[in-house]
Amino acid sequence: MSANAYLRVHCRCLLITYRIQRYNLNPSQQGLVAGIRLAQMWNVPCLFRYSLDHFKRQFHAGNIHPAIVLAIARENGIPSLVKPTVEALAEPAMTLSSWCSEVDVLRYLQVEEVSAIARMKERLYLARLAILDIPPVVHASDCNEANKCVIIWTNYWHTKVGKRIRKLEDGAVSNQLCFIRSDIIRAEVPGIRQPCLDKTIDVVGKYSCWYADRQIIDGTIAYLMVTERIPDWCGSSSNDDNPIATTMIT
Ligand SMILES: [Zn+2]
Repeated sequence: MSANAYLRVHCRCLLITYRIQRYNLNPSQQGLVAGIRLAQMWNVPCLFRYSLDHFKRQFHAGNIHPAIVLAIARENGIPSLVKPTVEALAEPAMTLSSWCSEVDVLRYLQVEEVSAIARMKERLYLARLAILDIPPVVHASDCNEANKCVIIWTNYWHTKVGKRIRKLEDGAVSNQLCFIRSDIIRAEVPGIRQPCLDKTIDVVGKYSCWYADRQIIDGTIAYLMVTERIPDWCGSSSNDDNPIATTMIT
């Protein structure tokens, strides 16, 4: 028996093992990764779909680390998993230090992936620090209470804006920043001269840092994106000739 035929039989055995178990039982992470890799290597579409389906379910259930999912997605040409994994890794609670030294995670990743995520996290951190800086007041030409304007604006930024930026919650941080920006644009700040407030808000509202989160994350997704590779049985796009695939699909 040739090596090719032997491995095809091995893939079939793996699939039959899965089928003997009930579909809704969760195969192990290791088994699913092996299933995806073998299915890609030896063109077994039904094993690929089965493993990927469970792999996605377990990722969305939080059972598999997003960095591992990202690595497997890039290794095996699964673009649909690049965006959600990069977004999960960008969340403030998903600190780089919590996983970048874990052997069980790192053994799946390439240097390119770790460095891209590390760059993204650093840029996100710096972007949020930039927002926390109190923007200078832009005084109107006839302002004769500059010190008072600065004190009131500083107090407003500390109590109304900085507090919210420091407490950004996981999940759609970009949207939360847009809401904060909208509130600033409509802000009423008692005590500050209105012409100075209007000029200052006009400048602050145009800061690019409000949209930096989305741009940084999208840039990382584009950098790590891969071309889709779907196994097709013996080079055919149809599964009609594949008894295992036909059985699994029907
Ligand atoms: Zn002023």
